[in-house]
Amino acid sequence: AKREGRNSHTLYHPDIDSQPDYQLVLRSEIFDAIQEGQFLLHYQPQMSCRTQQILGVEALARWRHPKRGLLAPQDFIQIAEDSGHIVALGEWVLRTACNQLREWVRLGLNPGSVAVNVSATQLSRESFTDSVHQALEDSGLRPDLLELELTESIMFSDASVTLDKLNALKKLGVRLSIDDFGTGYSSLSYLKKLPIDRLKIDKSFISGLPDDQHDSAIVRTIIAMARNLNLEVVAEGVETLPQLNFLSRHFCDQAQGYYFSPPIAAEGIYALLLEKQQK
Ligand code: C2E
Ligand code: CA
Ligand code: CA
Ligand code: CA
Repeated sequence: AKREGRNSHTLYHPDIDSQPDYQLVLRSEIFDAIQEGQFLLHYQPQMSCRTQQILGVEALARWRHPKRGLLAPQDFIQIAEDSGHIVALGEWVLRTACNQLREWVRLGLNPGSVAVNVSATQLSRESFTDSVHQALEDSGLRPDLLELELTESIMFSDASVTLDKLNALKKLGVRLSIDDFGTGYSSLSYLKKLPIDRLKIDKSFISGLPDDQHDSAIVRTIIAMARNLNLEVVAEGVETLPQLNFLSRHFCDQAQGYYFSPPIAAEGIYALLLEKQQK
């Protein structure tokens, strides 16, 4: 079942890209949808390669559309970016993820950290650091339990602004990671300038493991580089045991993917954490 791919886990609308009117409709609906509680988060566990314990979860947005069913980010994140609604949506995601993690901790569970995806537009807003601070304050979540996932595209914006902003975020005590690492066409020099804690190896490099010579060379190299730079490293899109074994053998810290679990509703994570705890 773990190999069936994303369509087995959520309802998607395959023709969505070819329906321009539909995109316009979604665009006009997105802001009200946030207010009306049509968005929800699914969470995907991040596992220790060594002990296979849950060390964290990544929050992934879903839109329960009254007419279209459950929509995946590929159907609405770009629209949210283009319309500027990504800022409101991102703020909602941040608050919801912090509150949810705090709630699990309050219930005596040990979910580790929660990772939230931050778009370049969201990060570029003057108010972003304040909104992170506020989400932490209001939820009472320990700052080091919040991780912000950034993409390499942030490096294309004004580099000094990025450095100041990331330093300000680090001062709050949150962790910063680079998402989709290796796909960004950007120079690696930012790794020594910016206060990054973790790299997430893009799933396109994991899919060919362990047989593809190029993928395995790239993944081994990223892991070695991360270790030398004192960065944690997470592999995403891990679907098979041979992939996991390869990663463990090369001392990758964490793995995330369908091999362990697809992204699931909060209730599912709750059940998983409870089950782990009782063992
Ligand atoms: P991402 O941050 O790279 O998230 C990982 C994506 O890979 C998720 O897709 C997840 O469901 C999928 N995935 C996880 N394990 C596997 C696996 O083993 N195999 C394969 N083939 N795929 C796997 P999802 O949930 O559809 O999200 C897609 C993208 O949408 C995310 O990519 C992220 O860039 C964006 N996104 C999701 N939620 C948010 C959000 O709240 N804010 C922003 N700005 N972007 C978001
Ligand atoms: Ca991510
Ligand atoms: Ca990713
Ligand atoms: Ca991605």
